[in-house]
Amino acid sequence: MPYKDPERARLNSIERNRRWKKRHPDRVRESKRQQYKRNGAAQKRKWVAKNREKARTTFRVWAARNVAKRKASAERYKQRHGQELTKRRFEWRKNNPERDKETCAHWRSQHRKEAVERERHRVRALRNDPAKYLRHRLQMNVHRDAYYARKRAAKGSHTLNQWLFRIAFYGWRCAYCDVPLTPKTLQKDHRIPVSRGGSEWASNLVPACKHCNVSKGNRKMPVSHGVSNGLPPRRFPDRAPYDLRRTPLT
Ligand SMILES: [Zn+2]
Repeated sequence: MPYKDPERARLNSIERNRRWKKRHPDRVRESKRQQYKRNGAAQKRKWVAKNREKARTTFRVWAARNVAKRKASAERYKQRHGQELTKRRFEWRKNNPERDKETCAHWRSQHRKEAVERERHRVRALRNDPAKYLRHRLQMNVHRDAYYARKRAAKGSHTLNQWLFRIAFYGWRCAYCDVPLTPKTLQKDHRIPVSRGGSEWASNLVPACKHCNVSKGNRKMPVSHGVSNGLPPRRFPDRAPYDLRRTPLT
């Protein structure tokens, strides 16, 4: 029905619209959703870019009130982008080793029990791989030796790889009596004992069997090792059954 008064026509149209909306709340909601989908996010971004401070405060208030919602949303995101996240985290850890160390140490200090449990789990898993497990045990020895070296104020230090190199250099044999060594019988001998001013540098270390290590006590061994058994020193090992340098450190 056309109205002669345009103002009245306008008001009538508004009224009709309002009533229609009241009757169809679902369609109104759906339409709004569609509209938001079309340009809502862009508009929101624009507004946020213009009102940084305000947006931040608003978000903080909202976040404090909707912890569960945020958690659920983060979980959904993880589900969708899990692989990507893992990859990104891996990259970051590789590029920021120092920060990574700090972060890990902090986490461990906050989750002592879980950290111990995880470490136990990790070591248990290593048992499936003999080379890795051996490497782990030797690494523990290196840590322990470093601790005692610090305690006794010895000079120098060595890494696991340096020690492994020394063992491989002697072909997994005792440096004094040439007996073949296994991971279980292997001992770390300081050629010049630390108690006599010997250092922790790798050059002062030789693999030895228990017998030689104990009987040597804190005497100094001659640099020309191998002489003690009347054999010339073996410079080039004929065999190195546990070549661990090929196992990557992780
Ligand atoms: Zn020996």
